[in-house]
Amino acid sequence: MKITSFELFQVPPRWLFLKIETDEGITGWGEPVIEGRAHSVKAAVEELMEGLVGEDPLPIEDHWNKMYRSGFYRGGPILMSAIAGIDQALWDIKGKYYNAPVYDLMGGKCRDTIKVYSWIGGDRPAEVGQAAKEVVGAGFTAVKMNGTEELQYIDSLEKIDEAVSRIAAVREAVGNSVGIGIDFHGRVHKPMAKILAKELEAYRPMFIEEPVLSQNNEALKEIAQHTYIPIATGERMFSRWDFKGVLAGGYVDIIQPDLSHAGGITETKKIASMAEAYDVALAPHCPLGPIALAACLQVDATSHNAFIQEQSLGIHYNQENDILDYIKDRSVFAYKDGYVKIPDGPGLGIEIDEEYVREKAKDVKHWRNPIWRHQDGSIAEW
Ligand SMILES: [Mg+2]
Repeated sequence: MKITSFELFQVPPRWLFLKIETDEGITGWGEPVIEGRAHSVKAAVEELMEGLVGEDPLPIEDHWNKMYRSGFYRGGPILMSAIAGIDQALWDIKGKYYNAPVYDLMGGKCRDTIKVYSWIGGDRPAEVGQAAKEVVGAGFTAVKMNGTEELQYIDSLEKIDEAVSRIAAVREAVGNSVGIGIDFHGRVHKPMAKILAKELEAYRPMFIEEPVLSQNNEALKEIAQHTYIPIATGERMFSRWDFKGVLAGGYVDIIQPDLSHAGGITETKKIASMAEAYDVALAPHCPLGPIALAACLQVDATSHNAFIQEQSLGIHYNQENDILDYIKDRSVFAYKDGYVKIPDGPGLGIEIDEEYVREKAKDVKHWRNPIWRHQDGSIAEW
């Protein structure tokens, strides 16, 4: 079998899909994207695919090493996302070739389902409380929300009180049986992160996420000394080499590699195993599309330390299109009692609605990060 060609489709809300074709008629799909930089990742995929067209798609480990190690400069969001999407598509092809789900080719699954969480939006306490009730009413047993808007290095107690009242409203609305993940979104700097973590403890969050930017991960060690809330991070870390410091340093309780950013299935499985050896949990980041989510579920299936999966159904970014729009059999992502079944179809276990993908790729608008500024005019972390 040989790879004959590939195509890239930028689609709303902010995703990029890759289709790889072979001379045996088997096709594989991947989702190589960095939100807001789809074009840059597209260019990187095109460069990397120069070394893959004409090759046998099956020796994935060798292709991964070639894409990663044969570049003198390596790592980072653009290159690792390009590798990620190609890797997903190669696994999809391999699974279809052997008529087996990807997890079977990785040693078999160790769970049948995995817990999923849903995002809740809203700025005011009453709004987030209501949003949480609706999501729990729809069957979710865990939610995630942003902890705060922009915060200065040292900011007012008013803003802390605002954040606390929103989390308090959610806890009151849903009771103690629902997990609440609080995403600091890298918006918070170390001085305020310590205060926030301490103040939020009373509401018993499931975790706090990116309490500081991952470039400042050494601060996590100090923050951890101020709270017993589990600390999660990793959506902006892209390889084993990016994760080894936080694992060896004992800075985290939960890692959140993104299957479309951290080198794909091949690399994330290795990151997950590294974390397992440090008794650290896995909760893959996935505010993305159906291919990324399907790839996550394959790694969740084979990773003992996976405990929850992010998914983007109804997320605030999915304005024009949502995750189910691009797949033919929507029942693969049917959530029941807060859990999703591991898909058991061949490859990634989903079937892409190619006609719809082509239609939506015709006139796509580029999604860009919002630009936030503090009151004094300086740029704020979003
Ligand atoms: Mg996050």
